[in-house]
Amino acid sequence: MNREENINQLKDSSKIWDIAVIGGGSSGLGVALDAISRGLSVILLEKADFAKGTSSRSTKLVHGGVRYLAQGDVMLVLEALKERGMLLKNAPHLAHDQPFIIPIYTWFDRIQYSVGLKLYDWMSGRLSLGKSEFISKKETIKRIPAVLQKGLMGGVVYHDGQFDDARLALDIAQTADEAGACILNYTKVSSLEKNESGKIIGLKVQDVLSGKKYPLQAKMVVNATGVFADKILQMDNPEAPKMIQPSQGIHLVMDLDFLGGTDALMIPKTRDGRVLFAVPWHGKLVVGTTDTLREKPRLEPEALQKEIDFVLETAGGYLTRKPTRSDVKAVFAGLRPLARPKEGSTKTKEISRSHKVIVSDSGLVTLTGGKWTTFRKMGEDTVDYFKQITGESPASSNSLDMKIHGFTENLLEGHWKIYGNDAKAIKAIAKEKAEWEEKLHPDFPNIAAEVIWAVRNEMAVKVEDVLSRRIRILILDAQAAIDTAPKVAQLMASELQKDEKWISQELVDFQKTAEKYLIKK
Ligand SMILES: Cc1cc2nc3c(=O)[nH]c(=O)nc-3n(C[C@H](O)[C@H](O)[C@H](O)COP(=O)(O)OP(=O)(O)OC[C@H]3O[C@@H](n4cnc5c(N)ncnc54)[C@H](O)[C@@H]3O)c2cc1C
Repeated sequence: MNREENINQLKDSSKIWDIAVIGGGSSGLGVALDAISRGLSVILLEKADFAKGTSSRSTKLVHGGVRYLAQGDVMLVLEALKERGMLLKNAPHLAHDQPFIIPIYTWFDRIQYSVGLKLYDWMSGRLSLGKSEFISKKETIKRIPAVLQKGLMGGVVYHDGQFDDARLALDIAQTADEAGACILNYTKVSSLEKNESGKIIGLKVQDVLSGKKYPLQAKMVVNATGVFADKILQMDNPEAPKMIQPSQGIHLVMDLDFLGGTDALMIPKTRDGRVLFAVPWHGKLVVGTTDTLREKPRLEPEALQKEIDFVLETAGGYLTRKPTRSDVKAVFAGLRPLARPKEGSTKTKEISRSHKVIVSDSGLVTLTGGKWTTFRKMGEDTVDYFKQITGESPASSNSLDMKIHGFTENLLEGHWKIYGNDAKAIKAIAKEKAEWEEKLHPDFPNIAAEVIWAVRNEMAVKVEDVLSRRIRILILDAQAAIDTAPKVAQLMASELQKDEKWISQELVDFQKTAEKYLIKK
C-alpha cells in the first residue's frame, strides 16, 4: 500500500470512479472491500489515519452481541454471529475465539444466563466457536483466580471472538488496495460537487500532508464518517437537521494479573444497566465500557473522571484486588453515533445496532450505525444501492469469502501472529541492520523493523500512526508509548527522509495526544 502511488491517481481528474467512500473506519473500509469484490472502481478517502476514529477504540470483540439477544434483537444477533464466524475464517491472524466467564451469585442468574447463552451458541450454528456451559465454583476460581469469591456459585462460560481493531482496519485497507482500490489516509473531503439537477457527481479532496486540493468525479459517493456524518450531510444540504448525538464509551487498560487467567470476565448488568467486559488483550487487560452523551463529535475524545471512577468501581465489585487509578496504564475513549432526539424531546435513542443506509435527494448515500463485527455486511448492503443511484447493475457481492491481507494458516507465535503472512518479511527487514532487531521498549516485544515495515507498507506517516494503530503501545501503556516515541520518530525520519525539525514537531504532537491516554493518579 503506497501513499504516493495512490495520491498520483488523484491527479487524473478525468477519471470517473464508480464509488468514492468518505471515511476510513470499519464502515468505509467495509464498503471499499465489498465494492472491489464486485469489480467496481473505488476510492476511499480518510481525513486522518485509518481507524483513527471509533474504529480503533472498541472493546475488541467480534461478537453477536449477548446484550442485543437479551433485548430480543434476534435478526441482528444472527447476522452478527454469521459475520463473526466468517471473519475468524478469513482473518485467523487477527481474530480468535475468546472464552468469557460470567460469575454467578444467584440461582436466577444461573438459570437465566445458562439458557440465554445456550440459545446464543445454538444461533451461531456451524460457525459456533464452542459450547457454553455452567462451571462449578472451584473451576471458576481456577480459571479466574482473582474473581470475588464471596457468595460465588459458579460461572457460565461462553465463546465470542476477539480481534485487533486498528490492525484489521489496516489489513482490510491493504486487501482492497491489492485488489485495485485506491485507498488513502490523510485526505480530507472538503466539499461535494453537484450537477445542475442537484445530483452529486463528485467531490473535492485535500491532501492534508501537502495541502494540495484535487477534484474527483464519482458515480456514487458514500458518507461513512461515523459520528461526523452530520458534517457531510450538511455539506450536501446546509439545512439538513442534525441526526447524530455522540455517546462516549471508555476503556481502562491494566495488568493482566487483575484477572489472573486468560479467560475474559463478563459482567452482564452494571449499575447503569450496561454490560462491562474485562478482556485479556495483547498481554494486558482491557476493561469497559461506559455510555456518556457528548455534545460534539471529536477524533480524540477524552475520558471523563466520573467514567473512570465508574469503571474502576464496577470492575472492583467483582475482583478480590480492587484496581485503583495508579494501576491504570492507559485510558482510551470512543464515540458511538446515537440518534439525536427530535426537537422538543429529551430522549436519545440508539440507532439500532443494525446499521442504516440513507439516500439523500442529491444521491449521497450515508451508512450509519452498525458495529465493527458487521463491517462487511454493512459494506455489502451499501453497495447494493449502486443500481438505484447509477442505474447500472453491479456484479453480486464476493466479499463474504475474501481472505483478509496477511491470511495464513501457519501463524507464528507471540506478537508476530497478528502480522500473519507478513511476519516473515518483517523479520527479513530486521536482518538488514543490527539496530532494527532491537526492541522499541523493554516491556513490549515489538522491534524497530516493525516501524520500518509500517512506513514502507502500511502508510504510516506520523509517530502516532505507528504507536497507536500499527503497534498498539499507546493504548496498552501510555507512558511506555511516550518513552518510545523518540526512537520511533528517528526510525521514521530515516525512512521518510525527514529532518530534525520534523522529529521535534512529531514529538510535540505525539506528547499532546498521548497525555490524553494517561490517567491522573
Ligand atoms: C466504546 C465502544 C466500544 C465498541 N466495541 C465494539 C466491539 O467490541 N465490537 C464491535 O463489533 N463493535 C464495537 N463498537 C462499535 C464499532 O467500534 C463502531 O461501530 C465502528 O468502529 C464505527 O466505525 P465507523 O467507520 O462508522 O466510524 P469511525 O471509525 O469513527 O470512522 C469514521 C472516519 O471518518 C473520517 N472522516 C470524517 N470526516 C471526514 C472527511 N471530511 N473526509 C475524510 N474522512 C473523514 C474520520 O476521520 C474517521 O476515521 C464499539 C463502539 C464504541 C464507541
